[in-house]
Amino acid sequence: MKAISDKIKSIAAGLFDSGKIDVFIGWEGGPCDYAIRPYIARSKADLERMAFNEYAIHNSSNYLLKLRDGHEKIGIVVKGCDSRGVVRLLEDNQIKRERLYIIGVCCPGMKDPLLAIKAQSGLLPQRDCDNLADKCLNCLVPNPVIFDELIGEQQPPHMQGERFAKVAAIENMSVAERFQFFEKEFSKCIRCYACRQACIACDCRTCIYDEMRPQWVGRENSNSDNMMYHLVKALHMAGRCIECGECERVCPVGIPLMLINNKLAKDADRFFGPYEAGLSYVEGQKPALSVYRENDPDDFI
Ligand code: SF4
Ligand code: SF4
Ligand code: SF4
Repeated sequence: MKAISDKIKSIAAGLFDSGKIDVFIGWEGGPCDYAIRPYIARSKADLERMAFNEYAIHNSSNYLLKLRDGHEKIGIVVKGCDSRGVVRLLEDNQIKRERLYIIGVCCPGMKDPLLAIKAQSGLLPQRDCDNLADKCLNCLVPNPVIFDELIGEQQPPHMQGERFAKVAAIENMSVAERFQFFEKEFSKCIRCYACRQACIACDCRTCIYDEMRPQWVGRENSNSDNMMYHLVKALHMAGRCIECGECERVCPVGIPLMLINNKLAKDADRFFGPYEAGLSYVEGQKPALSVYRENDPDDFI
């Protein structure tokens, strides 16, 4: 990882020198490896603080949203999942391709810094944080799908086993069992919105959950308001979720959000496919469910 970190810094330094970028999105090192965190360098001098290691798991593309209204030319490091986030933003017209210089890193899989912090605090056995993060064990696309420059050896998919096995188990439940399952899971939700904040597909400027006039959804974490939150988020993710797994990773109460996102991906492919969100960018091409045809056989809703 040290070689990759050095290479990223050296490419970024060249980009600042040549005036190709004004800012650079990557990671900042901390007092220990798992304290690494996303960082926006605004000058070549800032690159001193940058690092890349096996805990650089956060979806870097999310930080493009902080710069979407400016005119800066942006350098960014992306792993496979982050690169799909970039495609998501390009398709959603949140950022222009010509503003970006993308350094792709073929990703060997990351560890979860949140688990490392818990283990360090004595809340988890050390061995539970030594493996690849769950999202990486389910990763089909470790290599960047869009880049200007690529670092590292191409990686095989890290996913083992049947992709939709967990979804199939839910599908095999009766409607009542399924309702009970999700009601129980969603009753744990504290509506912290970490899953929304971490999500690259949640790129609306005003979120329905922040609106007060009118207040579309109650702010309590009652079962019905929690259900409403997760239903609306799921509908907004259909055909758009790039399965980066960040929502589930950051959920402080361990709600299995990827069950829903995987089901959405499965159905988007089944009904509108072959289709996988954010796998390639073709200018002007719209993702499934973003296209309207006057002769659509179904009503609007
Ligand atoms: S999900 Fe894939 S690309 Fe993303 S950090 Fe994990 S292994 Fe790397
Ligand atoms: S991160 Fe978890 S607890 Fe927080 S709003 Fe999302 S599902 Fe609920
Ligand atoms: S819903 Fe979750 S998995 Fe899908 S794009 Fe958002 S953070 Fe990633």
